[in-house]
Amino acid sequence: MRLFAAVLPPARAIDELAVAVERLHTLPGSGGLRWTGHDGWHFTLAFLGEVDEEILPVIEERFGRAAARQDPFPLRLHGGGHFGRRALWVGAAGGIDAMRLLADRADAAARRAGVAMEEHRAYKAHLTIARSRTGFDTDLRPYVEALAHFEGTAWTVGELALVRSNPPVPGVPGAQPRYEPVRVWPLGR
Ligand code: ATP
Ligand code: MG
Repeated sequence: MRLFAAVLPPARAIDELAVAVERLHTLPGSGGLRWTGHDGWHFTLAFLGEVDEEILPVIEERFGRAAARQDPFPLRLHGGGHFGRRALWVGAAGGIDAMRLLADRADAAARRAGVAMEEHRAYKAHLTIARSRTGFDTDLRPYVEALAHFEGTAWTVGELALVRSNPPVPGVPGAQPRYEPVRVWPLGR
């Protein structure tokens, strides 16, 4: 199973972002972008990749401990950015240091559970809203400019989520949810 750890924004934040993203669809070149689904919007904390189901209990044990060590923290959606011409994302503000700490803890928890994690690079909080379609080369800078003043309502991040990513099944649209939360742990308990 393909797994990642994430912060899942509440419905209100998702709804606010949906309004902002809707406006981006009218910008030039938007047809060359593949927009991510609202119900899957998330901030990845750590990417575990393909994991043997047998070690899931150990991962869950470690993640539970990581979550317990961290107090809830405030967060809001804030501005945007891009990774080259590949990905367009919305950023976060408010509790970025706490979020980074949680990302580090999730990474360490997965490692201790025996997951071969990639080298842990500097964490950049981002929620991917669009990716370039193959064969397209859209300049994402106007999109980032359009998002520059976007500020969502703050919420309190109170949970760490372990999410399963199901590969899209060709020819079987909507066979199962793309991202499935496997388990969530409350922070600080
Ligand atoms: P798709 O791969 O179908 O375009 P996706 O990237 O959202 O969709 P996954 O590849 O399963 O789906 O990734 C799940 C989450 O983990 C996403 O937020 C993705 O950006 C992130 N992710 C994937 N691969 C890595 C990686 N090597 N390092 C860090 N984060 C990753
Ligand atoms: Mg991917």
